[in-house]
Amino acid sequence: MTDDLEPGPAVLVVGGRRVPMLDNARIYACGITPYDVTHLGHAATYVWVDALSRVLRLLRVEPVVCRNVTDVDDVLDAAASRASTPYDAFAAIQQYHFEHDLTALGVRPVRHEPRAHRYVEHVIRLASGLMAIGAAYGRSGSVYFRGQGVAARAGLDHAEALRLAVEYGGRPDDPAKDDPLDTAVWQAAEPGHPAWDSPWGPGRPGWHAECAAMALSAFGVGVDVHAGGGDLRFPHHAYHAAMAEAFTGVSPYARAWLHVGVVTVGGVKMAKSAGNLVLVSDLLAGHTAATVRMMILDRPWAQGWDFSDALLEPAVARLADLYRAAGRTHEASQHGAAEICRLLAADLDVPGALDVAIETGGAPARLLMSTLGLD
Ligand SMILES: [Zn+2]
Repeated sequence: MTDDLEPGPAVLVVGGRRVPMLDNARIYACGITPYDVTHLGHAATYVWVDALSRVLRLLRVEPVVCRNVTDVDDVLDAAASRASTPYDAFAAIQQYHFEHDLTALGVRPVRHEPRAHRYVEHVIRLASGLMAIGAAYGRSGSVYFRGQGVAARAGLDHAEALRLAVEYGGRPDDPAKDDPLDTAVWQAAEPGHPAWDSPWGPGRPGWHAECAAMALSAFGVGVDVHAGGGDLRFPHHAYHAAMAEAFTGVSPYARAWLHVGVVTVGGVKMAKSAGNLVLVSDLLAGHTAATVRMMILDRPWAQGWDFSDALLEPAVARLADLYRAAGRTHEASQHGAAEICRLLAADLDVPGALDVAIETGGAPARLLMSTLGLD
């Protein structure tokens, strides 16, 4: 917190959207599916959410962050079954490793950390509510959300929307659906997956519906910022928002979106199946958390980037410049601190704020170091 701020509301710009706030910010961050190790792609998203929270505090706004755990998920079920472990025990172990890695990276704890398996009842209520207004229909033990218009709102044509639906397990060829782009709020029970009782028979929640239910439970009608990897834009975020808006009648569900750029290695998205995972634990074995944070944060947050070991060297150098600047003692520059606040509020311009901090030195540089967790 600083005394260099102008009085009046905090105005944060996120993704070009102006978001004035008084003293609280509701932030929903799409959490992990705890079936695997924490890789740099995950870390980049949560370090940026952490940076957003820290910048809000600087602007005298308390960030209330809800970061869910998707522990009811088809991919998780498959991984748990390969390990011959019940899905919930498997998820709990992975979740422990995830939190350990994030703490080591200096990511501060969040207020709400709902686990999907505790929100099955909420999803059933959500499904009933959507059916009551005709936004969803029951068929063969499942409940489907009517997806017309969701792809167009996301700026996608039909073919691209179908391709992404297939890629993210949306089953557009499910014959029970009225339209291939309808999506399951509730999926009828299938072998190899956990099942709960519902008014439509045994089944499990759909992925987008889980997140929508957890967000509405934590925050009511909507959020100030919804954050997540840029690759979750469609179908996941688009359907989450559409379900929340249909259910609550309040639109838009999110005032702004923080779609964090996807990290690739050799031009390929990081994934176990691609064999190109860069693990947080490996990075931290050879480098400080501040170096890894600097590598992640010293760039425009929405832009995808390709990781290579060579990127760590400039991060170390940039950090050394910042530390040297912070050690300079001279008359405190009011202008420098105010300019840093202005740049961070303007779409989290970390590179710009770093330039000013390194040039100005002294207290403004120390302010930026602590704000971004680079100390
Ligand atoms: Zn989500």
